[in-house]
Amino acid sequence: MRNRAAVLHAYSTPLSVEEVELEPPRAGEVLVRVAAAGVCHSDLHLADGHLGPGRVPMVLGHEGAGVVEAVGEDVDHLEPGDHVAFCFVPACGRCRACAAGRRNLCEVAGDLAWAGMLLDGTSRLRLADGRPAQHFNFVACFAERAVVPAACAVPVPRALPLWQASLLGCGVVTAVGAVRNAARVAVGETVCIVGCGGVGLQLVAAARLAGAGRIVAVERDPAKRALALARGATDAVDGGADAVLALVPGGVDQAFEAVGSPATIRLAWDVLRAGATATVVGIAPRGVDVALPALELLSEKGIRGSYYGSGDAAALLASMAALVAEGRFPVVDVVTHVTDLDGIEDAFGRLRRGEGARTVAILDEALAGAPPDGLGRPAGGLAVPGRRRP
Ligand SMILES: [Zn+2]
Ligand SMILES: [Zn+2]
Repeated sequence: MRNRAAVLHAYSTPLSVEEVELEPPRAGEVLVRVAAAGVCHSDLHLADGHLGPGRVPMVLGHEGAGVVEAVGEDVDHLEPGDHVAFCFVPACGRCRACAAGRRNLCEVAGDLAWAGMLLDGTSRLRLADGRPAQHFNFVACFAERAVVPAACAVPVPRALPLWQASLLGCGVVTAVGAVRNAARVAVGETVCIVGCGGVGLQLVAAARLAGAGRIVAVERDPAKRALALARGATDAVDGGADAVLALVPGGVDQAFEAVGSPATIRLAWDVLRAGATATVVGIAPRGVDVALPALELLSEKGIRGSYYGSGDAAALLASMAALVAEGRFPVVDVVTHVTDLDGIEDAFGRLRRGEGARTVAILDEALAGAPPDGLGRPAGGLAVPGRRRP
């Protein structure tokens, strides 16, 4: 099947929107018509070569939602017509990590994600010249259609517009899981969130959902500080650790870092009170080190990473889909721009400049539902499927 997709051919070069060949789903896989896809900093990290060598050519995109068009053999929990959001770790359930209840760290899925292949070790994607292309984290949803492992397609309520469901599979799961499963934020705890982009803004809402007391957001961009306040931050500052400590003398109970740079990881450490822990969800480029004052380990401060919600991502995605559909967890206001396949490269530019929060690429306007007016959009409007924007 011919299919338009945004392909990364070489690091630090623009994505190429072109026709690729998509093979039908094999056993245990499903074909999904993509309605919408979120543009995440991890896509940009990969495009800029920050996530290791050898990962091209690749179809990017790992956060999205759509409608099942076909199912392969041995798929019993999905059928054509189902609305799904993508979960990018299809946990095997049998490896050491899965057996220990840490399904986000599934070793089988981790190895194959790194290789850009599906669970049988092969790709369903071919370029026009016949070369195989890699799938980004099993999903590769910067495309009109995607073939994914059935475990990557999580049913969502039909009441939830798919452009909103597209935000669940990375930003929401990562943030809510970091707060709930990794940090286990308790009611009334003071929280600092460093960086208020797509994931940081979800961390603010997740901390509020967990009943945190004071929630201090640290962010340079005034528009994103305003968004953080609207989502439940009690304070939003543009500054360093001193600015946070002036608001919360002695330090916070929990800090979250959602940028992935040494300076902001250090900031998350510096605002901790004795005995508190910083949880890092931001992704730093390969080879970047962070320095910490070792003496402060005596005060039992801690630092940990959290990857993809630190738990069962598919289960968390399903429960968050229900909350979002019921209007009990906000996602809409995180979206500052909508675009189409051709506009993803512009969204990368905004991410590089720290401009705006989430961009959602609409792949099929009829399926995706209508994002509100007033968001940033490409000049000339969105491309209609099958036709390029003029
Ligand atoms: Zn992501
Ligand atoms: Zn596993």
